[in-house]
Amino acid sequence: MSTVIEEPPIVGLCRWLKLLDEWATFYETDPKSERTPSREDLSAFDRAQSLYLLKERAIQTLYLSESPSVSLGILEGPTPKTRIWLCENCRNQARRANLSPAEYAELSGGCAKCQREGLENDYYSLYILNVDYGALGNWQFHTPVPIGQSYFPAPRSEAAPVVGRRPVDRQGKMTRLGQPISAANRRQYPEHSVVWHVWDAIKTLKAEIV
Ligand SMILES: [Zn+2]
Repeated sequence: MSTVIEEPPIVGLCRWLKLLDEWATFYETDPKSERTPSREDLSAFDRAQSLYLLKERAIQTLYLSESPSVSLGILEGPTPKTRIWLCENCRNQARRANLSPAEYAELSGGCAKCQREGLENDYYSLYILNVDYGALGNWQFHTPVPIGQSYFPAPRSEAAPVVGRRPVDRQGKMTRLGQPISAANRRQYPEHSVVWHVWDAIKTLKAEIV
């Protein structure tokens, strides 16, 4: 990757962040990543998590840049199931109807006295941060709503409208967005170098944000 001196900081950050994202996906999905040598003695899972933490910082910085090239949206995930703990009265009703508590809860939905343990509606939704830099490139970065909502505007607000559905496969299972880094790119862009460039690009962009 030849970095031209006039390249806007946002573009530089996006290019490196894309590679960082692919490295994290590699650690998360490819069994041979466990055997990839690294300076730190961490499991592939922990290495993915540490890269994702840096990714969070990066997309937060991209958003804070308030650049017109950056826009935020929501990819709606499937609605999470609510678990209902039946109250005593409903448990008795279930017994009388010869139903298990789970079956009764499913059929009746419980009453106001039953306890509900639920995940919030957007638990499986994703923020999608789109960076459109015209001829220089177009990038999309995703982060789960439960993580992103601590630094992004609320999901479904004017600043983060629903722009689509989170992709699922034929069985309705959520599919992964993004590819693991290729073997050629692993050689050309080693993890430590990508991490350094992402840090550096965050710093450069932050210096531009007043
Ligand atoms: Zn009840």
